[in-house]
This record gives sequence, C-alpha cells and structure tokens, in this order.
Amino acid sequence: MMRRSFELIGAVLAGGAVTLLWSDGSVWSFLGAVAGSLAWLAVDNWRARRVLAWLREPSASTLPAVGSIWGDVVDRSRRVFKLLNRKARKSNARLQELLAAIQASPDGVVLLSKEGTIEWSNLMAGEHLGFDAKRDLGQRIRNLVRDPAFIAYLNRRDFSQPVEIDGRKARPGHPQRIAIQIFSYAKGRRLLLTRDITAIELAETMRRDFVANVSHEIRSPLTVIVGFIETLQTLPLHERERAHFLDLMRQQAQRMQALVDDLLTLSRLEGSPDPDDSQWVAADDLLAEAGSQAQALANVLHGGQQTIELRPGPTLDVAGVRGELLSAIGNLLSNAIRYTPAQGRVEAGWRLLPDDSVEFYVSDTGPGIAAEHLPRLTERFYRVDRSRSRESGGTGLGLAIVKHVAQRHGGQLLIESTPGLGSTFRLRFPPARVLVR
Ligand code: ADP
Repeated sequence: MMRRSFELIGAVLAGGAVTLLWSDGSVWSFLGAVAGSLAWLAVDNWRARRVLAWLREPSASTLPAVGSIWGDVVDRSRRVFKLLNRKARKSNARLQELLAAIQASPDGVVLLSKEGTIEWSNLMAGEHLGFDAKRDLGQRIRNLVRDPAFIAYLNRRDFSQPVEIDGRKARPGHPQRIAIQIFSYAKGRRLLLTRDITAIELAETMRRDFVANVSHEIRSPLTVIVGFIETLQTLPLHERERAHFLDLMRQQAQRMQALVDDLLTLSRLEGSPDPDDSQWVAADDLLAEAGSQAQALANVLHGGQQTIELRPGPTLDVAGVRGELLSAIGNLLSNAIRYTPAQGRVEAGWRLLPDDSVEFYVSDTGPGIAAEHLPRLTERFYRVDRSRSRESGGTGLGLAIVKHVAQRHGGQLLIESTPGLGSTFRLRFPPARVLVR
C-alpha cells in the first residue's frame, strides 16, 4: 500500500510538472494541480484501505460503500466469494454424506496417518476393536488394539492377507471373530477395514461338522455291508446263514436309504420357498395316514403290544404342503413309538386352542428327556442315546425336519418332557393357517 502511495505521489508530481510546461507556466496552476491530485489520491487511498479491510474479513453485512473502480472490485469480489462459498458448502455436504454412508456401513473403517494414529473412524470399527471412535482420535492404533496377532500383523507390514482376532464382544461360549485388513493409499496413509466374520465362521464350522457327521453315518452301515459281502464271497455258508447275513445287509442298506431320504428332505426344505395358503390339507386325513404307518411300525418293533390312541379332534384344514406336514407328523409319531417301550402308551391328535391356533400333539409314556438335552434336540444328528436311536432305525434328522416344516408353515415345535414319565411334542400352527369346518 505504501509503495503504491509513493508511486501515485510521484505520478501526481510528474503530472503537475507536465501541466506546468504545457499551461501558462504559473506556479499557482502547478500547485493547484498537485493539490487536486493529492486530494483525489487521499480519497482513493481511503477507498482502497476500506476495500482491503473488507477483503481481510469479507461478509455481506459489512460490504463497504465505496464508489469508483473500488466499488466494482468489491462487487466482483463479493460474487467470486459467493460462488466459492456455494462450492465449499456443496463439497462439505458431499463429504458429510460420504462420511454418513461410511458410518452406516456394517464394516468398520479407520483412516490411519503415516504414524499409525487414527485420523477418522466409523463407530462400527470402534465396536469391533474396542475403542471410542470419537475420543480416541489421534491415538496410535497399536496402543488401542493390543491383540498379539494384530500387533504381529502391524509389525510384519505385509498386508496382502487379512488377520483374524477375537472381537470385543467375545465371551466364553459366545465367540466373536473379527477380520482386519490394511490397505495403503496416498503418501503412507493407511485404510484399515474390519468385518465381523462370526456368522461365516460358524456356518463353516457347521458345514464341516455336517459333512463329518454324514460321512460317519454312511460309513458305519457301509462297513457292515462290505464285511458281509466279503464273508459271503469267501466262506461256504449254509442257506440259513446266507439268509441271515443277507437280512442284516438289507437292514444296513435300509439305514443308509433312510439317511439319504432324510438328507434329501432337508435339502428340499431348505431350497424351496415357504409354502403359502393356496393349498389346504385335511388334518384328520393326515392323522389317519401317519397313524396307520405308525401302527405298522409299532407292530414291527413291539409286536403290536403298544397302546396307540389317535384323536382327530375338530374337523379342520391346515394351509401348507401335504407331504411336508405328513413327514413332520410321521416323524413325531415314529419317535414316540420307537422310544416308548412295548407296554407304554402313545396318544396323538389335533386340538383347537383358545387363541384359535391349532396344534398336533403326540404324548408318550416313554423314558422322557432330561432338560439339558431339550434345547439341542432339533440339531442335526443330535441324539440323547445314540445306540438306542440307531437300533430303532433313527437317522438323527427327524426333529430337524419337523422344526423346519413347522417354521416354513409359520408354526413352532414345542417339547415338554419329564424323565421317567414321558414326553409331549406339539406342532403349533397360527390361526391364519387354520380353517375349522
Ligand atoms: P432320531 O432319528 O435319533 O430319533 P430325532 O431327530 O428324531 O432323531 O430325535 C433326536 C433325539 O431326540 C433322539 O435321538 C432321541 O434321543 C430324542 N427323542 C426324540 N423323540 C423322543 C421321544 N418321544 N422320547 C424320548 N426321546 C426322544
């Protein structure tokens, strides 16, 4: 500003001198020209200072009212500021939206500085790794996440694979596994992503267990069959012995067949959409069909001594798939007959409940089931007494099928049992799936 003033004064003096040469040559004219120029210069300077002061803290409310070219400068600057402001607001809104989107992500996101301190983190990362996404900003991540596997991962500096650690919510019996992976970006900065992989690991464990169980269930009867085949091939047997061995082989083959049938039923149940209410099945008809199969089973297993009572109850229809409902009811009846001794009693039927829901029930006077087994009974291949289940032709999949069918029909499977006295299994359907005729 100072320099500009000197320049202007110089210009004014030079201007005055020129005026002097070209005009009448009087000193008064020269002084008049210089005084006028200085006055103009002072006003111009004053305007420039006001504009400069405003430019330091520009705001619409403090707009300086200066005329001449300075007025234009103010006006143009105001427009440029307005435009820049609008752009800044827009990009800030975008940034906030982006952060909100990352905040809503089910995965954890942490931005790390070159020094490994947290520059930004969403809440999920804090939940996964056990730090406070706001309070711990600026902290070094290795001071907050002390898991040895994670520290080793940081030290290794090879981030091509993720590392897995226990999550903050992990408790004995309630695992939580978190996968963490780091990606490098701009100038040594790092992006750290976290993901809760508990469900994936659980599903993988279940899949492995299932394959192991199926293989084991198939291997046992197969081993028996192969053994008998070798015996039949190598030993000269009497006709009676041959018939006996062939009968044992048939039993084992049937066991495998039952297992494969149940596996196929389960995979069909898992792979098809839930049944709607476009088909209605007569409840008494289901009971009659499953009842006659149950009676046949009781004759084989208990020589017809067991008491089986079927109570059809009110005449009603249930919405659903006949084959599935028959399989569920049949499984419950078959269990009651298989686990109840010959002198025992099995009662099964339909009943309408006060809230208009309907249940199929099977009560038996069998050995009952201890309370600690009840929550696990519907797991695949879970058996209270393994040898007893196998002896009576059980696959260990019956109740898993029943539970699936119940859920697909909007219903539930309820189990009550008293060891030594017997059990009651109930298949309950909601009123929307029932039509009382
Ligand atoms: P399984 O083919 O072994 O019978 P399920 O899934 O049908 O398989 O039943 C699981 C286990 O529940 C059985 O192995 C048995 O121990 C127990 N169970 C089922 N029904 C009864 C019952 N009525 N009485 C006693 N125990 C039962």
